[in-house]
Amino acid sequence: MTNTCVIIGASHAAAQLVVSLRSEGWKDQIVVISEELDIFYHRPPLSKAYLSGEKNKTQIAIRPREAFDKLGIEFVLGVRAEKINRKDKTITLNNGEVIHYDKLALCTGARARMLQLPGVELEGVCYLRSAHDAESIQRQVKPGGRAVIVGGGYIGLETAASLRALGMKVTVLEAANRVLERVTCPQMSEFFARVHREEGVDIHTNVQVSGFIGQQHVEGVVCADGTDYQADLVVVGVGIIPNAEIAKDCGIAVDNGIVTDEFARTNDPDIVACGDVANHPNRLYQRRLRLESVPNACDQARSAAASVCGTDKVYDTLPWFWSDQYDIKLQIVGLNHGYDATIVRGDVTGRSFVVFYFNNGVLIAADCVNRVKEFMVAKQLVAKKAELNLALFADETVEIKSLLTA
Ligand code: FAD
Repeated sequence: MTNTCVIIGASHAAAQLVVSLRSEGWKDQIVVISEELDIFYHRPPLSKAYLSGEKNKTQIAIRPREAFDKLGIEFVLGVRAEKINRKDKTITLNNGEVIHYDKLALCTGARARMLQLPGVELEGVCYLRSAHDAESIQRQVKPGGRAVIVGGGYIGLETAASLRALGMKVTVLEAANRVLERVTCPQMSEFFARVHREEGVDIHTNVQVSGFIGQQHVEGVVCADGTDYQADLVVVGVGIIPNAEIAKDCGIAVDNGIVTDEFARTNDPDIVACGDVANHPNRLYQRRLRLESVPNACDQARSAAASVCGTDKVYDTLPWFWSDQYDIKLQIVGLNHGYDATIVRGDVTGRSFVVFYFNNGVLIAADCVNRVKEFMVAKQLVAKKAELNLALFADETVEIKSLLTA
């Protein structure tokens, strides 16, 4: 008898999952359901090279479609999975179709957090999560026109850089007292604010957006302190919400995403979850985490595939992330939450340096700005929970690789 593994979602987690299912020995049917028509494309370029027009859709494909055809993957595209019936092992789609599963993988990811403010429905107020979103932003780009970005997180800042490259005048409005406040230290925030200002972006912090004005199309952004900013285009980047409702509605445990164990299993033995939607227990950090990154989606999918095939592959890889803005390649390893000291290697007033984060003398994270070598070394040191002489990290005369054996 043939078994069917159904996957909901067709992005980074699902792309890795189908490949890993085959390599783990799943020979039976694999059906992928996605509400998007464009599938298996890299999402990071949407705010970077795809938005700025440097890369086209073919260039952002995770793998060519034929590679998935060769693996015998079946697709149901442009439809939304609405309901899971765990008793009957079926999924009901929004077109009324019912699909049976033996094993189910939830790779539903996340969606952009929407603002509930007056005028948010005006044309030209955009979000950025999908290729479709990026294309609708591109259609509104006018060289010399004014773009306002709401939110000074990574997506907001990357979008600002891409819109500058396309010749727009860009303003970033951030509610906190510094950009990237949630994810990085004050020195890094100052660095990125400086770089964006050098590139011609107008950055305002401690600004609470209260609405949008315009007739049919947005013409301006209004703030709680009475200030307003002219806008031909607004891009809102204020975080994401995990698409976990479909799991919650059928009794799967949900708490800031779908709750899984370290093998990507949910509380239903036949259902796994991975990627942005999954909240997993992390061995390295000794707490539950829901990570929002491509490496997380791919590595967790490998564990999910093993679980579907009946073997245990623990998910405990070190979190890492990257961001590209102008000529800057930022590579982040580890999570800096709870740091009690930072050490800078290099010159924060330039465009090449590292901030190392420590807790009780142990290296827990590093933000590497145009420093690939340090990034590679930091990856190993964070994983080792290395306790080293902190002064060595700052000393550029000490070869960074030598810290691995220090
Ligand atoms: P997603 O990519 O969110 O995909 C989930 C898919 O499931 C979507 O297509 C969704 O439409 C579909 N879906 C959801 N519910 C249903 C349903 N009920 N029925 C059918 N289909 C459904 N990460 C990095 O590591 N580095 C970066 O530089 C970086 N830059 C980014 C830039 C942008 C603009 C964005 C948006 C994200 C970026 N990320 C980056 C984050 C990264 O893209 C995500 O971590 C990654 O896409 C997560 O993959 P996923 O498969 O878990 O979910």
